[in-house]
Amino acid sequence: METVPGLSGNPRTPSRRLELRELHREITSCRHCVDAGLLVRAAPVLPAPIPSQIVLVGQAPGRLEEAAGRPFSGRAGRELLSWLARAGIPSEEAARRRVYLTSITKCFPGASPGGTGDRRPSAGEVALCAPHLDRQLALLAPWLILPVGKLAIDRFLSARPLGVVVGRLFDGAGRELPAGDRPSSAHFPLLLPLPHPSGASRWLNRPEHRDLLEQALGRLSQLLRSPWPGRAKRL
Ligand code: SF4
Repeated sequence: METVPGLSGNPRTPSRRLELRELHREITSCRHCVDAGLLVRAAPVLPAPIPSQIVLVGQAPGRLEEAAGRPFSGRAGRELLSWLARAGIPSEEAARRRVYLTSITKCFPGASPGGTGDRRPSAGEVALCAPHLDRQLALLAPWLILPVGKLAIDRFLSARPLGVVVGRLFDGAGRELPAGDRPSSAHFPLLLPLPHPSGASRWLNRPEHRDLLEQALGRLSQLLRSPWPGRAKRL
């Protein structure tokens, strides 16, 4: 299986924060999907330019995120941040300081045609936005990536059902790392999938799926306590 694309960059350059700011400026001015007729308007949503080596990748910003200009600031975002709290990151502020929160596509795709939740970004939007994510990952060189929801999980682990990836840990080549194995830097970036926190997703309605989420958060808690590069001194 291929190594996760876009991860060959040098993790530690003195100007990394400046490079990240510049990359954010470029992404913020992107109008590719409007030019291609895929979106009515483009309003890319990005986190603060914190060069964290823990990267969380969701699907796309929602309406509230677009309005606030801040990722994961709506109801689903609050749910996700509550999961991170259960894994040991004690507050929203700590999570935003410690985890680089981004998404597969950067602009609100609009409501779903069926009226339940947001529209899933089209393959065209995903393809046009992919270079942005590749450049973010190349610049940050994360040791841990948290793909959230099916679209993000498919990006890193090809199309595998949620039930066989949530609760498990993978190396950057998509190989599972058994629970008893201690990962090393040779496995970076580690991939720890999480389900989508949106209330529109019914996946978490099943008790066995909630158990898988608990396993994933337990694994995340262990990883966050590991003495690896990018580990913040304080949560
Ligand atoms: S979704 Fe991505 S590629 Fe499309 S306009 Fe927004 S930033 Fe550009």
